[in-house]
Amino acid sequence: MFTQFVKKEYGKGIEACSDRELYTALIRMTNRMIGEKRVHLQSPDDKMGSGSKKKLYYISAEFLIGKLLSNNLINLGIYEEVSKELKKAGKKLSTFEEMEPEPSLGNGGLGRLAACFLDSIATLGLPGDGIGLNYHFGLFRQEFKKRMQKEMPDPWMEDDGWLVKSGRSCVVSFGGFDVTSVHYEIFVTGYHNRANTLHLFDIDSVDEKIVKKGIDFDKEKIKKNLTLFLYPDDSCEAGRLLRVYQQYFMVSSGAQLILREAEERGSNLHDLYEYAAIQINDTHPSMVIPELIRLLTQRGIPFQEAMEIVTKTCAYTNHTILSEALEKWPISFIEKAAPQLVPIIRKLDRYVKEKYADRSVHIIDGNDLVHMAHMDIHFGHSVNGVAHLHTEILKNNELNHFYKIYPEKFNNKTNGITFRRWLLHCNKPLTAFLEKTIGDGFKKDAGELEKLMAYKKDTKALRGLLAIKDKNKHKLAKYLKRTQGIKLNEDSIFDIQIKRLHEYKRQQLNALYAIRKYQQIKRGNIPDTPITLIFGAKAAPAYTIAKDIIHLILCLQKLVNSDKDVKPYLNIVMVENYNVTLAEKLIPACDISEQISLASKEASGTGNMKFMLNGAVTLGTEDGANVEIHELVGDENIYVFGEDSDTVMARYDRGDYRPRDYYEKNKDLKAAVDFIVSKKMRKIGKKKPLTRLYDELLNKDWFMTFPDFDDYVAVKERAYRDYMDREAWAEKMLVNIAKAGFFSSDRTIAQYNEDIWKL
Ligand SMILES: *Cc1c(COP(=O)(O)O)cnc(C)c1O
Repeated sequence: MFTQFVKKEYGKGIEACSDRELYTALIRMTNRMIGEKRVHLQSPDDKMGSGSKKKLYYISAEFLIGKLLSNNLINLGIYEEVSKELKKAGKKLSTFEEMEPEPSLGNGGLGRLAACFLDSIATLGLPGDGIGLNYHFGLFRQEFKKRMQKEMPDPWMEDDGWLVKSGRSCVVSFGGFDVTSVHYEIFVTGYHNRANTLHLFDIDSVDEKIVKKGIDFDKEKIKKNLTLFLYPDDSCEAGRLLRVYQQYFMVSSGAQLILREAEERGSNLHDLYEYAAIQINDTHPSMVIPELIRLLTQRGIPFQEAMEIVTKTCAYTNHTILSEALEKWPISFIEKAAPQLVPIIRKLDRYVKEKYADRSVHIIDGNDLVHMAHMDIHFGHSVNGVAHLHTEILKNNELNHFYKIYPEKFNNKTNGITFRRWLLHCNKPLTAFLEKTIGDGFKKDAGELEKLMAYKKDTKALRGLLAIKDKNKHKLAKYLKRTQGIKLNEDSIFDIQIKRLHEYKRQQLNALYAIRKYQQIKRGNIPDTPITLIFGAKAAPAYTIAKDIIHLILCLQKLVNSDKDVKPYLNIVMVENYNVTLAEKLIPACDISEQISLASKEASGTGNMKFMLNGAVTLGTEDGANVEIHELVGDENIYVFGEDSDTVMARYDRGDYRPRDYYEKNKDLKAAVDFIVSKKMRKIGKKKPLTRLYDELLNKDWFMTFPDFDDYVAVKERAYRDYMDREAWAEKMLVNIAKAGFFSSDRTIAQYNEDIWKL
């Protein structure tokens, strides 16, 4: 098939083409196939397209989609065939996979979730599109210079890539000026099923040349900077205001698209909720509520009715209980960016204030801040958390006042991941092993992975799993050597923590363990099996302490890896520019998955699920979806440590946490903390960040690493000991894989549809 396509495009055979030509042809052919499917399935005479007149719109400021080539080939069912054709001509598909740039249109979990959802929506044959922004440079590309993080622009758009201009546009009015919103599309194909669309909006006047050193640019020139970066620096006011402009641009473009499509499908707009379901992914798209009300009233629908229509159409997903992440915008920002929304937001606020005296549920507070989540809860019909524990905390603590008013709106949707990317694509040896062992039914129905439980005592199957892990570890070692010059000891335990750098995720706790281990080895206390601690994390550019933690880890990497007493037993590695592509290589090679957030703080986590599915064993707190992983695999197959969420929340309520008390009573902990500012470290690192981090831990330690330190060390040591009994360890791997079916995003999406969207 590909041979013919290439012949038609270039008038020659595959062998005669350059890699660049073949790469372009691969994208072109794939995109054409998806495009045809898309048109075909949405035509009125097709059952899957017209089965429902209602369509879902998943609005999100982030879609961390990753590379698309291999996934699209897999979902189209032509991966093997194309691979073979290339091979016959002496080419390798992996060459072209590597040529593809990764669009970094998301920060981390929330954006990756949106991407997994698009895959599952299409795979389940549901009509549902994504709506977002076309950031030219996405998030930054991370570089390490002098053991510090540096941020660089990360261009990803190609002339002949996945992104296509639809030719449609609309006008978005900001305070004082209008812009033309240009509509782009990325086609999304399901696994052996329909194709949907990710709609990305942009303006033509954006000027990439205004980016100066690193990722610095003039925050005030909206017409030139609007879609340059994802979440520009919000440490300054101009950066925060730009974010409001971005958000309004996204929701106004999206709302216009939704209304136009609904009308095309036959809606008179009074019945909009029968034609459209809108899922608001966190509060970044919350202004879609007042914007839709504005557009409906503009078309003659009375305010009260418009409000009711929009409430029936919109649903809100909460992703965090960290109060600093719950957006509150000064009304003056909205007055500047989208003045036409202010009277509507004020009217909604008055409506709420007339009904409820309780200030904690009002939309505009005494400081003229607009609480975006409050608007979503009052004027949406559903509020969901993203893991069982998280939803319980929302109902009983964080959003308890809202829960008392609207108990019926609250529901849980435990996150999931797409198994096409996080198993079929990223771990082909394991996929082949599963096909051979339990048949290929798990590819369509993830629940079938349970069949693997029958092989729990099957020595041959267990050895097979160990061999696959070994192979993946070698592959990772080769890749990191080639791309980052990092040398791994393939015979060591791969203990991996990869996720955004945040104090609540507690990379600093893992770093304290590393210091302790180093000190023990120096004293002659040598581990039975060598250990490699692998980190990967980007820190927000203005998040000082997070960058200090990166500095600490990079200093430890240097210290340990250049100490010949320690190096044979302990290695520390921090990979540069952690992203989806790296995750796909690291996760299949992992033995121990670090999920060590402070209990109550990680809403769900999805990294934890990817690791489990690939046969890593979790070392984690009872937080987010770790709780559900624990319930599924049982005590034997997970390493749980630390205080539980009730204990943690009670301590926050009392406000009496003093890290110094723990430090003074615990000599191992004290020795590890003191080491951060020791002479040895100061020789490698910089005084200011190391001292700042030391002071922060000793005087604040807001995410309570010290109370969990002893338990973390003890449980981690137990996991390392257990690892040595290879067959017993393989049983744990097997159970984790077998029980991972629950975390398929196909299950999550089926539940969203059943309870919220009703497509
Ligand atoms: C899955 C994923 C995340 C989320 O990881 P958590 O451990 O759940 O925070 C972040 N970044 C990338 C690139 C991912 O693939």
